[in-house]
Amino acid sequence: MKKGILIKYGELTTKKGNRKFFIQMLQQRIKQVLEPISYTMQKDLSRMILILSLEDLPFALSKLNTVFGIHEFDVTTILEPTKEAICEEVVKLSKSLSFTTFKVQVKRSDKTFPISSMDFAKELGGLILKNTEGKKVDVRNPELLLSVEIRSHQAYVYTNSYQGLGGYPIGVQGTGLLMLSGGIDSPVAGYLAQKRGIKLEAVYFEALPYTSKEAREKVIQLARILAKYQKEVKLHIVPFTKIQEEIYKNGKKEYTITIMRRMMYRIMESLCKKQHVKCFITGESIGQVASQTLASLEVINQVTSLPIIRPVSCLDKLEIMEIARKIGTYETSILPYEDCCTIFVPRHPIIHPVLEECFQIEKKLSYESLLEEAVENTFVLKIQEEKEDKFHDFL
Ligand code: ATP
Ligand code: MG
Repeated sequence: MKKGILIKYGELTTKKGNRKFFIQMLQQRIKQVLEPISYTMQKDLSRMILILSLEDLPFALSKLNTVFGIHEFDVTTILEPTKEAICEEVVKLSKSLSFTTFKVQVKRSDKTFPISSMDFAKELGGLILKNTEGKKVDVRNPELLLSVEIRSHQAYVYTNSYQGLGGYPIGVQGTGLLMLSGGIDSPVAGYLAQKRGIKLEAVYFEALPYTSKEAREKVIQLARILAKYQKEVKLHIVPFTKIQEEIYKNGKKEYTITIMRRMMYRIMESLCKKQHVKCFITGESIGQVASQTLASLEVINQVTSLPIIRPVSCLDKLEIMEIARKIGTYETSILPYEDCCTIFVPRHPIIHPVLEECFQIEKKLSYESLLEEAVENTFVLKIQEEKEDKFHDFL
């Protein structure tokens, strides 16, 4: 008898043509997170099974909890696919667990197995009732769900199921550049993009000395949290001070943020081209601030033809905050250090900017060479995921 983890794929099983590729990417990611331990892996088009030693189980479970593309994972006993072996294990398991109501669920992908799923489930339920005391079957809302899966070469019996992160394996959609500020929204946007299979590189616009080193540290910490889902995040730091100062020279203060956002998008486009990346991602949310009204987004968006992914665009602030708490970015995001946008923000930023007005303002700024210089002087920090040393969440 062996122990293992049964991994059930998420949404990827619906993508017929891509299924092999998705599974390959998932396998690659699982190999990455389980690198420190030894195990064997079997896979087919709907399941993966990891066979490993009991002491490595908590580590493996905590790591699988950072892998997109997994719908569910179960700690399972692996048996010979015979009736006797399964019955014996089910009785043993039901005696060792504390519960009152239960349900047995049987799935038989090996149709040569001599008894139908329904009949076998009934038989196993009867066995449990016979061998224990005070237990009751409840098919609707059981305290214990005992699952049995029978395949041609082996059978699985399990009761410990964990919900996976869902989504697509990281990287199946290629790479995107995330505009990562120190706020609440952009790390959440990054996480949601990762969940759709986009591997992230992050870009932070820094305006030293107007912004502090602490502000950068905060962004590094946020990138580190996102690195949990892909091992490493490259953080591009764009020196943005000269551009900010140039923009601030213009007389129409209410347009400062609009122009600044247009400059940021222009730099994002250059960085995407340089990195051969097809999209960038922001934490913009419709109507949240003046620069995020639809009218503003239209005018700002005009400088680039790249797709811009805005995963939180239709979420309320409270919904965004809830995700931020769940993924552990919230506490870092609310640290008080100033961002470059907040420092230069005018008292009354325009809500309905006019494109022609932007052209007029930009004509008077000498920004092209400044943009080139900023892109040239952008430097990269490789942010590794945090090393955790406690895995007590599982088992
Ligand atoms: P957040 O909470 O993510 O900071 P926000 O509500 O403060 O967002 P803005 O400051 O208007 O909104 O910024 C909108 C988006 O633009 C951010 O979510 C982020 O994607 C990007 N952004 C803003 N400032 C920066 C910056 N200094 N560096 C990188 N990206 C930025
Ligand atoms: Mg912000």
